[in-house]
Amino acid sequence: KFQKPTRKLPIRLDGKVLTKENIVEPMRDIRRALLEADVSLPVVRRFVQSVSEQAVGVGLIRGVKPDQQLVKIVHDELVKLMGGEVSDLVFAKSGPTVILLAGLQGVGKTTVCAKLAFYLKKQGKSCMMVAGDVYRPAAIDQLVILGEQVDVPVYTAGTEVKPSEIARQGLAEAKKKNVDVVIMDTAGRLQIDKAMMDELKEVKRALNPTEVLLVVDAMTGQEAAAGNSFLSIFNPWSQHSTVEIGITGAILTKLDGDSRGGAALSVKEVSGKPIKLVGRGERMEDLEPFYPDRMAGRILGMGDVLSFVEKAQEVMRQEDAEDLQKKIMSAKFDFNDFLKQTRAVAQMGSMTRVIGMIPGMGKITPAQIREAEKSLKIMEAMIEAMTPGLFIFCCLKEILSTKS
Ligand code: GDP
Ligand code: MG
Repeated sequence: KFQKPTRKLPIRLDGKVLTKENIVEPMRDIRRALLEADVSLPVVRRFVQSVSEQAVGVGLIRGVKPDQQLVKIVHDELVKLMGGEVSDLVFAKSGPTVILLAGLQGVGKTTVCAKLAFYLKKQGKSCMMVAGDVYRPAAIDQLVILGEQVDVPVYTAGTEVKPSEIARQGLAEAKKKNVDVVIMDTAGRLQIDKAMMDELKEVKRALNPTEVLLVVDAMTGQEAAAGNSFLSIFNPWSQHSTVEIGITGAILTKLDGDSRGGAALSVKEVSGKPIKLVGRGERMEDLEPFYPDRMAGRILGMGDVLSFVEKAQEVMRQEDAEDLQKKIMSAKFDFNDFLKQTRAVAQMGSMTRVIGMIPGMGKITPAQIREAEKSLKIMEAMIEAMTPGLFIFCCLKEILSTKS
């Protein structure tokens, strides 16, 4: 299932490779990291076995330790497994975009409903929320209060009307008002049961939603993929299996907690659908797109080493570096080479970040770094502005004026 990294590594290899032996130790650490991040055990097992098989034989980048290289491979696989890229919300081509939220009780559906309205409003879309949790009057009040907070209208029809009927009425109202996006909050249960599934199916039929988003609490971790969880209904082997609900994506909430977010991996593994957004707090602005690469770093808990390996790989082509070394040795390092080096460093990010990634370099003050960055920029501009002829002229002028 996991394919060997297809991207050719830009750095020439030393002839050394990852072997069964030299990955045993780091693989154990990675396995531990995944379990600590609350990735469910079966998912960890499948993942570790598959990545181990793929890693053996991969060439080692010169100067990178086997464990660092393995972390990089694991990281890339995690990113791929979680969808690779940011997965955007889909909007309807005509008429209002309808987003249906589903999930167990307490995962954060009602909060997400308002957060999402606020998020979309900031993007210039007009929104309306529909209160579909008819089992607790407090749930409707909660949404109404949140609606006031984010200044988005809430359609309510009390607790006596069936959710599917509320959905129908809400949608009609939204069409009348020419609203861009309708977001419907639904009732959760402590556990999934048939009544809940049937209700969701009915609501779905009434709404014909553009997006059905499953809201998952990141703190539930292991449980997220367990047999009795809501997520499991998207697992074809589950007794509750249903294709009819057919979620289009997920929202992971409560990522501001201690959890390292292993649930993210389980969601994609079990449902096959991407996580589109994450909630990282109780405030209305705490909703953002889901970045698989950041999540992979968080799950592994090894962000910085990794980004250094990655960036070094992308930016410093070994070929170039060797060339450069030869030039310096033979005193042929010219200003164009200097420029190339400067740019390679600049591509790795700000110098503050790059230096921060190198162990033991913490003593350099930010002011010193800024000064150095400024000097480099000035030098770059000077070199760029000159033709070789002009450069020689300037040098000669300088030499004559100093008479040295
Ligand atoms: P629902 O039952 O699924 O509708 O869940 P609610 O939206 O009522 O949320 C349940 C609790 O979780 C509330 O106290 C929320 O304030 C809290 N909550 C929701 N999202 C987040 C989040 O991203 N971070 C934190 N820390 N708390 C959240
Ligand atoms: Mg609710």
